Amino acid sequence: MGVNIEKVFGENVFDDAVMKVRLPKSDYETVKKLMYEGGEITEDLADVVAQAMKEWALEKGATHFTHVFQPYVISVGAEKHDSFASVPIDGKIENTFTGKDLLMGEPDASSFPSGGLRATCGARGYTAWDITSPVYVKEDTLCIPTAFCSYTGESLDTKTPLLKAMHAVSKQGVRLMRLFGDQDTKRIFSYVGPEQEYFLVDREKYLKRPDLMYSGRTLFGAMPPKGQEMDDHYFGAIKPRVKAFMEDINVQLWKLGITAKTEHNEVAPAQHEIAPIFSISNVALDNNLLVMDVLKKTATKHGLVCLLHEKPFDGINGSGKHNNWSLTTDDGINLFKPGKKPEENKLFQLVLACTMAAVDRHAVLLRLAASNTGNDHRLGANEAPPAIISSFLGTQLSKVLEHLEKSEPEDLMLAGKQGMKLDIARIPELLIDNTDRNRTSPFAFTGNRFEFRAVGSEANCASAMLALNAAVAEQLKTFKTEVDAKIADGKETFAAILEVLRKDIKECKAIHFDGNGYSDEWKAEAARRGLDCETSVPVIFDNYLKESSVRMFESTGVMTRKELEARNEVKWETYTKKIQIEARVLGDLAMNHIIPTATRYQTSLIDNVYKMKDLFPADKASALSSRNLEIIEDIANRTNFIKEKVDEMVEARKVANKIESEREKAIAYHDKIVPMLEAIRYHIDKLELVVDDQIWTLPKYRELLFIR
Ligand code: ADP
Ligand code: MG
Repeated sequence: MGVNIEKVFGENVFDDAVMKVRLPKSDYETVKKLMYEGGEITEDLADVVAQAMKEWALEKGATHFTHVFQPYVISVGAEKHDSFASVPIDGKIENTFTGKDLLMGEPDASSFPSGGLRATCGARGYTAWDITSPVYVKEDTLCIPTAFCSYTGESLDTKTPLLKAMHAVSKQGVRLMRLFGDQDTKRIFSYVGPEQEYFLVDREKYLKRPDLMYSGRTLFGAMPPKGQEMDDHYFGAIKPRVKAFMEDINVQLWKLGITAKTEHNEVAPAQHEIAPIFSISNVALDNNLLVMDVLKKTATKHGLVCLLHEKPFDGINGSGKHNNWSLTTDDGINLFKPGKKPEENKLFQLVLACTMAAVDRHAVLLRLAASNTGNDHRLGANEAPPAIISSFLGTQLSKVLEHLEKSEPEDLMLAGKQGMKLDIARIPELLIDNTDRNRTSPFAFTGNRFEFRAVGSEANCASAMLALNAAVAEQLKTFKTEVDAKIADGKETFAAILEVLRKDIKECKAIHFDGNGYSDEWKAEAARRGLDCETSVPVIFDNYLKESSVRMFESTGVMTRKELEARNEVKWETYTKKIQIEARVLGDLAMNHIIPTATRYQTSLIDNVYKMKDLFPADKASALSSRNLEIIEDIANRTNFIKEKVDEMVEARKVANKIESEREKAIAYHDKIVPMLEAIRYHIDKLELVVDDQIWTLPKYRELLFIR
């Protein structure tokens, strides 16, 4: 296509360069300061910024503006568009966009489930500009990233608690730095680089699969003769049609200031990945929602459909979203990057150990944060991280922790108490080397960051990132408090740090696992270690309301008990609705597609059997028809079974729907309906293999998975 990235990058973003040119110098500086340090923006200043934004957006062809917000029930950004048009005076209208329009919105949006935080009658919800995430133009609309709260101040979105969690980890990180004599660091930034996986299928074929259209995944489909067993798709040459699609999305994303960096084919056929360069968490996650949006819309343009569901095809790898996460000081020091000299590593080891301790303490919460209806099919299925949370460190770091734990504090102190006697100068090189990587770990250290791999491809990863940042913030705080207590008791600072560190390392040992996370031995071992092995998603949701979770979220100021309760109501409700849709679609398709098609084929076989009788003597005819008779019987048995199960499923749904509690209802759907979906599917897939291909109207896996 010959696009110059340098020229187009950020073209549609109201970024620093644009602000510098379009805002008066002092206003520009105030805005920059607010972006960096936070604080209230005055309405006067907001008016100036809004005016500049409007002019810029009009030049880009925008006619509308919108506050983009992230209700926690859905994983895409929600938008309500308003045009710039003012009230007409003498038949003339003007383009208007004021500071007030920029700062705050009141989308009705009362139909989003709020878990009881907003009664529909008084459903006031407000959106407030997130000044730290850039404004951009998408199609004909000026888009303003916003936080979404109720009239009474509770968060109704994923961005608000994420921003709070980022603030919490920053505050506690800075306090910790002071312990090491650092007086300069003012902020710690949490970074994320989300790797987005997705499938592409042909649009024509997609439109013939109501299950894909309504539930995002195929609810039946026999395995194709060739799946992913040869691994020949992985990193393989990209097909021209897909390549054209990728080029298109890259250009759009670059224009939106998103550094689409890596693109490649993934393990499964028709599966791909796009990874941007990491950035500050709230911006990276806003961007990820944009990436998902652009992927979907652009696919349509190319006669394709982008599937973001975690498990669109049974028996074929699903899609995840690896969250590469790190903490970096405002001076650019990555706290997860081991230093070259032993004394530089004190802080690194400490933050590492605190992270492990946080993951250990809140493992179930992290598992929850990565759980949704779709991801349930993927986690623990030998293709994605296991459903049990553990953390991989690699040989070198494991040795370091072991050394710290086993040695006496005196042995660890260098003469002059300057640092620790640990020769880990070569850790960075060793770890970044791919040989010391473990793809089966849900939370793996990868040299200068942790990679949280359990998150699903369709999720808004803010849920996972806010839980992680908040958990680490709590742990850093606890650590500092314990060290301070020891110092107050007369312990020398470094000795106090070492004592607490060693205690933490000992306590969080259960979570540390470097072996094969896919193996059955690990499942047994994890249970022995007392790790949580629960697999039912609606039950996993309970962990939001565990006392340790509530305490952690409240003490870090990220979410209140009321907000957590509301979120859980919505989680259960959403879970139920998704299975409900799947059950309806599968029931309908079974009754009006599968059974009629199989019966038509069966009738043609019966016809054949009768005609054989006309042609041959009775004995010979029945011998010659034996194969057909078998198939006729097989079809009768399977279609009978399917019909019975569909009826049973309808009844089971009626019973479940009467359950008042959202939790119990979701559990009923999980325990009763999901197994029925699987049982019905089994027989449909068998029928697909025997029924004449000519009359089977629904595109098969082999057609869906291979794009020509
Ligand atoms: P992988 O080999 O794990 O598939 P990719 O290149 O696909 O790696 O993606 C790695 C992601 O990690 C990218 O988004 C990259 O920007 C991000 N990343 C690299 N370093 C850091 C860091 N220090 N903190 C957070 N993310 C990082
Ligand atoms: Mg990758």
